[in-house]
Amino acid sequence: MSEETKSNNNINRIAVLCSGGDSPGMNCAIRAVVRTCLANDIEIFGIRRGYAGLLEGSQHQMDAASVGNILQKGGTILQTSRCPEFIKPEIRAEAAHILKRKNVDALIVIGGNGSFNGAWELHKEHGIPVVGIPGTIDNDIEGTDYSIGFDTAVQTAIEAVDKIRDTAHSHDRTFIVEVMGRKSPAIALHVGLCTGAENIIFPVQEEKEVDIDTIANDIKRGLKRGKGSSIIIASEGETEGLSHYVHNELLDKHKLDSRVCILGHIQRGGNPTARDRFIATQMGHLAVKSLLAGEKASVTAEQNGQVVLEKLENCLGKKFEVEEKYVEIVKTLSK
Ligand code: ATP
Repeated sequence: MSEETKSNNNINRIAVLCSGGDSPGMNCAIRAVVRTCLANDIEIFGIRRGYAGLLEGSQHQMDAASVGNILQKGGTILQTSRCPEFIKPEIRAEAAHILKRKNVDALIVIGGNGSFNGAWELHKEHGIPVVGIPGTIDNDIEGTDYSIGFDTAVQTAIEAVDKIRDTAHSHDRTFIVEVMGRKSPAIALHVGLCTGAENIIFPVQEEKEVDIDTIANDIKRGLKRGKGSSIIIASEGETEGLSHYVHNELLDKHKLDSRVCILGHIQRGGNPTARDRFIATQMGHLAVKSLLAGEKASVTAEQNGQVVLEKLENCLGKKFEVEEKYVEIVKTLSK
């Protein structure tokens, strides 16, 4: 369908919001959504602070200028939030009522699988057409190979670890570097592989799941062959303070000293990389086009290197993939 096509399946006004954690590249998606709407004579409204803002009736009309000069900026100009009460059907009924009262014909939700669950319920219960655009640094949404922000977050963490490696090498030290990913191993795996880490600790629910002896043996083997410094990449996991636990165990049980560095929220910020801009822009464009083509509940997914549409109901789960082939490479190369 060309930009000039006027048959738009009764879609005349679309609203867009960001929900869940912010991720670099969300602004590229917002810009693409707004400009694609305008190119198709569709009114586009921005909702601030996610579902919470929707419930407050906080929406404003956007024009071409309102998304000028945002593509390269991290965060989201619409801001985002978590809105626990959206789990309740009566609260979603209120949201649907607000959208209908404001003559919004369809909703675009940029966020993670939790946000998609909210959109799915809204669609099922109230018939509102919805499209999800995957936006989370964790890259853990079922049905899509990629979510906006992952590449930037990994790049930020890699740059930090490279700097830590300099000082680790200078002082013959072991560093435990904690990266984001409470329930997703993706950032840790990629950062570990790209920085030549000696070990990766994937998300655990309890500290005792961490195999301290193996980590200690790997460090000792490295020391024997003259390797003074080691980098251990640790996913933040469910329990706060995991890296400090590993530090204490290494010291107490194995007399191995280390330093802890928690990268934290710097991984969420910063200018989106080329990959994030490339994917987010295509996804924002496709989201609008799909609504105009009559799609009712879909997600703009990346599959086999292409941005395509996937059914929303196939993108509601969280994936947890520790790709063994990459773990194997990390182990082999760090020996
Ligand atoms: P991130 O991966 O960055 O954490 P997310 O979208 O998965 O993003 P969540 O906190 O899980 O983040 O969800 C964001 C919001 O989506 C919630 O605060 C809530 O408003 C809504 N939501 C989550 N799960 C559901 C659900 N099962 N039903 C309805 N709404 C939901």
